[in-house]
Amino acid sequence: MKKQQLKKTIMGIDIGGTKIACALVSSGKLASPVYTARTPRGEKILSVVSKFYEQFSRKYLISGVGISTAGMVSDHGRIVGSTGNIPGWQGTKVKEILQKKYRLPVVVENDANAAAYAEYQIGSARGANPLLMITLGTGVGGGVVVNGRLVRGAHFAGGEIGHIKLSYTKQRRCTCGRYDCLEAYASGNGLLALIKHYFPDKYKKISTRDLFRLARLKNKSSIFAIRAVEDWHFYIALGICNLFQVFDPEKIVLSGGLSEEVNINYLVKETGKLLLPALSKSVRIEKSRLGNNAGLLGAALLASQSL
Ligand SMILES: [Zn+2]
Repeated sequence: MKKQQLKKTIMGIDIGGTKIACALVSSGKLASPVYTARTPRGEKILSVVSKFYEQFSRKYLISGVGISTAGMVSDHGRIVGSTGNIPGWQGTKVKEILQKKYRLPVVVENDANAAAYAEYQIGSARGANPLLMITLGTGVGGGVVVNGRLVRGAHFAGGEIGHIKLSYTKQRRCTCGRYDCLEAYASGNGLLALIKHYFPDKYKKISTRDLFRLARLKNKSSIFAIRAVEDWHFYIALGICNLFQVFDPEKIVLSGGLSEEVNINYLVKETGKLLLPALSKSVRIEKSRLGNNAGLLGAALLASQSL
């Protein structure tokens, strides 16, 4: 059977803590359905990647592989740290192993960085320079694109914005083991801490979803929920302000499950109040429209550029 060849067909893969997603990508667009598999431990992930590769390569000529993964990734495509919830993944020489196996260019990138790159190339802030992306979910992550290139940093921690500090008072412990990181305030866990603060008697019964629903009611019963949601916006604004003063982004993109709950106009206003007065009207924030496929698409775009 003759293999179909699309222009620069890349296999894009996103390796997360619970699932691995894979699809073919051509010219920045999905060229196949997105298939998923559960994330196994450590190097077994590579066997899942290989299964996807075998299935796709039977039908298509694949020009390269782009992998977006949780964890910090070295310039040589090795997983060097903070691997989220994937035990045994750290230390894996992903790029080296797969490149040898497939004899194809393989690009490996941190998932938030890959997603930021997708936003820059095909997302809601196309061409923005600089572009700052902030992911709000169980944790807080992000990516920075300057002059069309990802800021990867000298220690591969560029864009790890969840761990900038919002306070020096050691009030709130972060998942990283330190205190008062943006992630400890602006993530889902940060919201749970706000619920505990405003609803000390019934916090176990209120989910983050309930909190936003209650705040939207805008009646007498929602006053504490409204305060909690405003506090949450204020923490995000503080984080954006600190980053804004460093990068002066043309646009900021919010992604991740919790970004859907952000009131953009309110956040823009609150951020403007914190910035240097000359910058107070310069804040542009958009929500991501690429959704869960941003990492996979971004990794594929990076791989297609390496061809
Ligand atoms: Zn932290």
